[in-house]
Amino acid sequence: MRRISVLGATGSVGQSTLDLIARRPGEFDVEALTGANNVALLADQARRLGARLAVTACDDRYHELRDHLAGSGIEVAAGGEAVKEAAQRPADWTMSAIVGAAGLVPGVEILRRGGVLALANKETLVAAGPLVMATARQNGAVILPVDSEHSAIFQALRGESVRDVERLVLTASGGAFRDWPLDSLHQATVEEASSHPNWAMGQRITIDSASMFNKALEVIEAHELFGLPPEAIEVLIHPESLVHALVGFRDGALMAHLGAPDMRHAIGFALNYPIREPLPVARLDLAAVGQLTFRPPDPERYPALALARRVMEEGGLSGPVFNAAKEAALDAFLAGAIGFTDMAPVVTRTLDRMSGDSGLPRLSPDDAVPSLEDVLEADRLARLRAGEIVVGMMR
Ligand code: NAD
Ligand code: MG
Repeated sequence: MRRISVLGATGSVGQSTLDLIARRPGEFDVEALTGANNVALLADQARRLGARLAVTACDDRYHELRDHLAGSGIEVAAGGEAVKEAAQRPADWTMSAIVGAAGLVPGVEILRRGGVLALANKETLVAAGPLVMATARQNGAVILPVDSEHSAIFQALRGESVRDVERLVLTASGGAFRDWPLDSLHQATVEEASSHPNWAMGQRITIDSASMFNKALEVIEAHELFGLPPEAIEVLIHPESLVHALVGFRDGALMAHLGAPDMRHAIGFALNYPIREPLPVARLDLAAVGQLTFRPPDPERYPALALARRVMEEGGLSGPVFNAAKEAALDAFLAGAIGFTDMAPVVTRTLDRMSGDSGLPRLSPDDAVPSLEDVLEADRLARLRAGEIVVGMMR
């Protein structure tokens, strides 16, 4: 029996992960499941899968979770520290499907114990890529990418050497507003931004797909994971979402990964790695699909992409600042404080203000790997600054 834990079990990726686990009874021994607000679902999952530990990230939901699990013998805990402890528990395979920067500390804990980390939480790499990769190396830990584009690249690279790679091409659906007239984007509502043309995902990543902040995060994620320079990572709009990514080699060969838009493919590949097992995903009928289309992203429609380039060039603590400012801008959009097209300016201004911020931890020029403390401080300050910028824009 393989011992596994799933962090963020109640979310979109978490539920897909448990779906795959539940289909193979007797193969997996579930150590810990974590969630946040949705404690009824978390308790139900823990009972169904016979987990040893269930943790809600929300301190104030402890009693509710305990009541749901009364008499089950399942251990119950609450709060950020308890999520971190769940990550520290020994397991053969751990999924990090928490949304946002909250995934960083638990992710690092999994790597510190030398674990196998199936990583859906891209924010971990955007905020602290150099630290995360170094921690994995030092502890003999393994990172298996679960973001579909990165899983596609990882699969195309099997048996290949990264030295032979000339470029990576990440595809993007273009999101909810890819065909909207540019001058109407500022009116886009939260509801409109929350519907994705091809993928069923959590609300935050769906809105990030509409703004292309999701692809901006993914470009940085690819840069950190595969170690390619920023100019070797391209983005292509591909409205069908069937080609997930392409790897271009120095002999001109371009290897594409195709599949139905179903996260259970990337999750299942990581779960079964290094072997391939049958997965309950739809098979592509290319004759029925007929044609695949591609076009370059319009920089005016998707200003987030240029911000990713800037972050990779600046390095230092701009990764955590970018991620936190993006999360704060999204919170403000969700709260109705700013419009859809105000998110990118909030992030730009936060980056501008913080590049000369005296409160930011000072890194020496050869400090290529910022510490976890520095990253968390940069995250905290960026949320504060972004909040001030939002208030300024509301006036
Ligand atoms: P989601 O919102 O559906 O689920 C998020 C999970 O994190 C939930 O279990 C929630 O309870 C938990 N959570 C929320 N706040 C938390 C906190 N402060 N501390 C601990 N746990 C917390 O999100 P999702 O769409 O499943 O995405 C999860 C991650 O995977 C994100 O980083 C996302 O970018 C990435 N991802 C998702 C998809 C997808 O198809 N949904 C695809 C690729 C990558
Ligand atoms: Mg993706």
